[in-house]
Amino acid sequence: MEKQERTHEATEAGRDDQAQSMCVTSDFLAHLLHDLKTPVVSMGAWARRMRKGRLGPVTEEQEQALDIVIQSCERLEYDLMCILEYARYNKRGVGRLLLEICDLAAVLQSRIRSFGPSAQEKGISLSLDVPSAPVIVEADWRMLDRAVSNLIDNAMKYTDPGGWVRVSISTVGRSVEISISDSGKGIDKKKLDLIFTPFEQVMEIADREVRGAGLGLSNVRRYVKLHKGEIHVESEIGKGSTFVLRLPLRQSTVG
Ligand code: ADP
Repeated sequence: MEKQERTHEATEAGRDDQAQSMCVTSDFLAHLLHDLKTPVVSMGAWARRMRKGRLGPVTEEQEQALDIVIQSCERLEYDLMCILEYARYNKRGVGRLLLEICDLAAVLQSRIRSFGPSAQEKGISLSLDVPSAPVIVEADWRMLDRAVSNLIDNAMKYTDPGGWVRVSISTVGRSVEISISDSGKGIDKKKLDLIFTPFEQVMEIADREVRGAGLGLSNVRRYVKLHKGEIHVESEIGKGSTFVLRLPLRQSTVG
C-alpha cells in the first residue's frame, strides 16, 4: 500500500514536472517565434517599399525578384503565426471566446476582399455566395475569421492556376454553415483523418513545395470546437476539396 502511494506520488510529481516543462517549452517557443517574426515583417515591408519604387527606380527583373521576396515573407509570416497560436494554446490550455453579436456575412465579405489580389495574381477565381440579409451570429468573430482565412489560404495554396475557390454561407435551422470548396489537388481519402493532427502534412513529396507548418487545420478545428461547432471535409484526389464548418447561431442556447 505504502509502495503504491509512493508510486502514485511519483507519478503525480512526474506529471507536474512534465506540465511545467511543457509550459517552459511553449513559453520559449512563443518568445522565439515572436523574435523570428519581427525580422520577417521588416524584410517584407522594405521589399514592398522597394517594389513601389520608393528607394529608386526598379527594373522589371528586379520587380519580379521582389515579388518573390514579398510572397515568401508573407508565407513565412503566416506559418509563424500558425505556430505561435499553437504554442500559445499549449501554454494556456483551453482557449477563451470573446463573444459578440456580429454579421458573419460581412466578416466573410471583408476577408474575401483581402484575398482578392493574391487570387488574381495566382489566376484563381475566388467567389463568395452569401444571403442578401445579414447572417447574425453570437461568436468570437476574430477567431472565426482566422479559421475561414486558414481554409481559404489552404484552398488557394493547394489549387493550381486556372482553378476556383468558392466560399458560401447559409443558415440551417439554428446553425450556420460556412463552406469553402476548391477545384484543387484534393486529399487522399485514407489520409483525411490525419489532416487535423498537428504537424501532419499529407501531401506527396512532389507537392511539398506548397507545404506550410502543418498546424493550420488543427488550429481551425480547435476554434470550431470552442464554438461548439463541427468541421467536415470531403475530398477527391485531382478534383478538389470542400470543408464545411457548422456552428450554432447562438452560443448561449447550446448546452
Ligand atoms: P499546412 O500548413 O501544411 O497547409 P494544414 O494543417 O493547414 O497545414 O493542412 C494539413 C494538410 O492537409 C496540408 O499539408 C495538406 O496536405 C492538406 N490540405 C489542407 N487543405 C487542403 C486543401 N484545400 N486541398 C488539398 N490539401 C489540403
